[in-house]
Amino acid sequence: MARKKQFKAESKRLLDLMINSIYTHKEIFLRELISNASDAIDKLYYKSLSENLSDVERDKFHIYLEVNKEARTLTIRDNGLGMDKEELEENLGTIAKSGSLAFKQELEEEEKQDDVDIIGQFGVGFYSAFMVAQKVDVISKKYGSEEAYIWSSNAVDGYTIEPCEKDSCGTEITLYLKENSDDENYDEYMQQYEIERLIKKYSDYIRYPIQMMVEEQRRVEEETKEGEEEKEPKYETVMEEKTLNSMIPLWKREKAKITEEEYNDFYKSKFNDYTDPQKVIHFSVEGAVSFTSLLFIPGKTPMNYYSQDYKKGLQLYSRGVFIMDNAEELLPEHFRFVKGLVDSQDLSLNISREMLQHDRQLKVIANRIEKKIKSELLLMLKNEREEYEKFWQNFGVQIKFGVYNDFGAHKELLQDLLLFYSSKEKKLITLDEYINHMEEGQKDIYFVSGDKVEKIDQLPIVKKVKEKGYEILYLTDNVDEFVLQSLMNYKEKNFKNISQGDLDLDSEEEKKELEKKAEESKDMLDGLKEALGEKVKEVKLSTRLVDDPVCLSADEGMSFEMEKVLSAMPD
Ligand code: ADP
Ligand code: MG
Repeated sequence: MARKKQFKAESKRLLDLMINSIYTHKEIFLRELISNASDAIDKLYYKSLSENLSDVERDKFHIYLEVNKEARTLTIRDNGLGMDKEELEENLGTIAKSGSLAFKQELEEEEKQDDVDIIGQFGVGFYSAFMVAQKVDVISKKYGSEEAYIWSSNAVDGYTIEPCEKDSCGTEITLYLKENSDDENYDEYMQQYEIERLIKKYSDYIRYPIQMMVEEQRRVEEETKEGEEEKEPKYETVMEEKTLNSMIPLWKREKAKITEEEYNDFYKSKFNDYTDPQKVIHFSVEGAVSFTSLLFIPGKTPMNYYSQDYKKGLQLYSRGVFIMDNAEELLPEHFRFVKGLVDSQDLSLNISREMLQHDRQLKVIANRIEKKIKSELLLMLKNEREEYEKFWQNFGVQIKFGVYNDFGAHKELLQDLLLFYSSKEKKLITLDEYINHMEEGQKDIYFVSGDKVEKIDQLPIVKKVKEKGYEILYLTDNVDEFVLQSLMNYKEKNFKNISQGDLDLDSEEEKKELEKKAEESKDMLDGLKEALGEKVKEVKLSTRLVDDPVCLSADEGMSFEMEKVLSAMPD
């Protein structure tokens, strides 16, 4: 007997959740296992092309499903790349590294919340098998290796890995289905119709045939003798091998005929998300470089978005053949939240990661993609404001960083996507909207920084400017002021921090009045300055205040808020 190994701690938690889950979408386990099988074939397909392997028969690639009702098993078999012993251990004994840390933290923070939510937030992958199976066997043989291994686990007691026999390379996953209970029917995963339905629903686009022996009713031809009455047609049941999926990649299908649900299911299975995408962008470009792209804006910020685990980039295909995951060069940093793929006939299959950086065609594609994402976001902003605000909640910070990163190189591209809180509208507005609201004679775009809208609202200077009828942008995010500073101006209007320098809001009369008062109070002001010493630069009378007696005000240059941010930064 092989020694039992324990799952890594975090995998164990996830397994517990899987086994005891009240998760209603148990059926997605099939989608996950098939997508893994397809990935494994993709890998071998690509390897065979790029390394010119003559012993790989590319037209024989397939995924095979087999049911054994006596043993209560469902088997998913592929002839892809397979896994060696280390890979079985690494891939199935631990949670896929991506997101695992974030996942753990989430678990600890949300201990008391619904299990459903936690599972949902994590790409479920291979472990989803344990939602329907009490035991899972994985037999695998890596391409080019002589040895095969069987990984076996009932989840609860860990897993074992032992050598075994297998003719050709690939992976065979056998699920020993759970016994039916009062409210769960696992038998249905052995029913032909149910399996066919699930494949159609979740895996129709998989590029390789998903096959199964199915019962078909075939009409038995009987000769009718002359003069005899026409007989009732007779049928017999035969077993036939059937391909269950249409095999057309979703992105190659006619847009008008793809349903929202198909896009959503595709996104979720391919990019390990549980939430529907917020936006689907599907387009083709013909010309010097031709390509089709299918992009998604996630419906929420991925858990690992701000961690090093998060990988930017799009999947890259050439004529439907998968080349690589996370091709970074296809996405600019400021749109790194976008998921999706690009399929181009103009790219060489032998392209390597290093070559990507210099590939001219790829640059053209990346450029078109950037423009497309921007124009789609602008459309959303214009036509679906609420949706856009949701997007802004999720990824606005990324856009803001984009404005001031690279010394403002992308500010022209991004400035119209920015939103700031408006004192007048009491909601988020664009800079363009601000300009449209400007009062006659107003020269600058007014802003002020602070932690919270409610707090800013109470600032004396804010009250004053508001009283004069001007709109103010409230910058509540640390990066906001840097963003405006990078922009320098917008449509020839300068940004003016109202808590800084002279606002020049007063009429000539008001100014004269102030001068007179200053003259009268000269002694007092000088006295104050003397008392405060180096702490202030100057003490003067102000019309900034409506009903507060004094306020601190920063000189031109750096504002209080920026000083705060800068001094909080590590050196
Ligand atoms: P993901 O697919 O997101 O990487 P999974 O949990 O679905 O996560 O799978 C974990 C890993 O196990 C895969 O990345 C792959 O390396 C390996 N794997 C799973 N199924 C197969 C298979 N049928 N053939 C080869 N490798 C597989
Ligand atoms: Mg997977």
